[in-house]
Amino acid sequence: MAHVQAQVESHYRSELVERMRAQGGVLQAGKTTVRLAKEFGFCYGVERAIDLAYAAGKVFAGQRIFLLGEIIHNPDVNAQMEALGIRYLAAHPAEAEIAELAADDVVIVPAFGAEVETVEAVKARGCRIVDTTCGDVMSVWKRVRQNATELVTSVIHGKASHEETRATASRALGGDGLGHFLIVLNLGEAQRVADFMVRGGDASEFLEAFRGAVSPGFDPVLHLQRIGVANQTTMLRSETEAIQNLLRGAVAQRDGGSTANFRYFDTICGATQDRQDALFQLLNESLDLLLVVGGYNSSNTTHLVEIGSEKLPTWFIRNASCIESAEAIRHFDIHAKKEVPAVGWLPRKERLTFGITAGASCPNNLIEEVVRRVLELRGETLAEAA
Ligand code: SF4
Repeated sequence: MAHVQAQVESHYRSELVERMRAQGGVLQAGKTTVRLAKEFGFCYGVERAIDLAYAAGKVFAGQRIFLLGEIIHNPDVNAQMEALGIRYLAAHPAEAEIAELAADDVVIVPAFGAEVETVEAVKARGCRIVDTTCGDVMSVWKRVRQNATELVTSVIHGKASHEETRATASRALGGDGLGHFLIVLNLGEAQRVADFMVRGGDASEFLEAFRGAVSPGFDPVLHLQRIGVANQTTMLRSETEAIQNLLRGAVAQRDGGSTANFRYFDTICGATQDRQDALFQLLNESLDLLLVVGGYNSSNTTHLVEIGSEKLPTWFIRNASCIESAEAIRHFDIHAKKEVPAVGWLPRKERLTFGITAGASCPNNLIEEVVRRVLELRGETLAEAA
């Protein structure tokens, strides 16, 4: 592992970022100040997953190695995996894809886990599985499995299409498949659930609204009687808390003040929370703009963007190549859900301070490249930076 970790470090570490961290997150270059959030970038779960994937490449050299979906949500890291010779399966592979696997193939389960039926299908082919699922994700699974054994429906705050939420939902069915789940994306969807619980409504309309986000055979009349709220580990804490308060209130209103039919487990992971808290702290500083670096399909990164956008101009970029010039940038619009061009992103000020943070799936070398690019456009030299 020591050899593997050295290789991983050589791909992803950044001396500049380490220097900034050692300086309390501040870098002064001429008339430009860079402020880095106290917690940012790779989390323990992602580091472990990457280490294990690199180790699999060494231990099983000569064998075919596949990844179920992406190791993490960062295109640069995934490209690096491909460069190591690791091939990709879909996160939810079709039968034909599974049928092509051979007994001496190795299949890596990513940090956010995989659905039960996918893992079982891979095992049935006789493949060796390298499971990099993060422990924090597994603790959510423990909660929803427990719900299933007690016939409590898991209401999962998450994105129905996200690998982690799909993996969690598959565990909410329980060992015998009798458990149920309902996935809510946001407070608006939770309100719809609360309204149905309190006032009832048309079950088929409800199911249409939550198509693809409920367990097979889900009946909102029967299966919202006893609920347990859990969440994808990378959601926005304030939203998750608002959802659990709303649903607890709905249960109490329906059940004459009793909350016996309601459970809540806070399953936001420590790394997500630390990055959100550190950003709130960074936003107390006087900043002209914020750059958030990370993969566009990264949930925890998207929430950092949401937090920043409420306070100041915030640009969500994949890497330094998105910064085309001091005028033009390509950034991910989280509402339009696509990368869009924009101009005038870098204020023309003599003295400028910009904040920077990165999601849990973003390596430090990408953060460094972004810092260097902005300083270059500002005409600052890093050599003189303090
Ligand atoms: S973001 Fe949290 S749950 Fe996901 S891999 Fe990192 S530590 Fe684990």
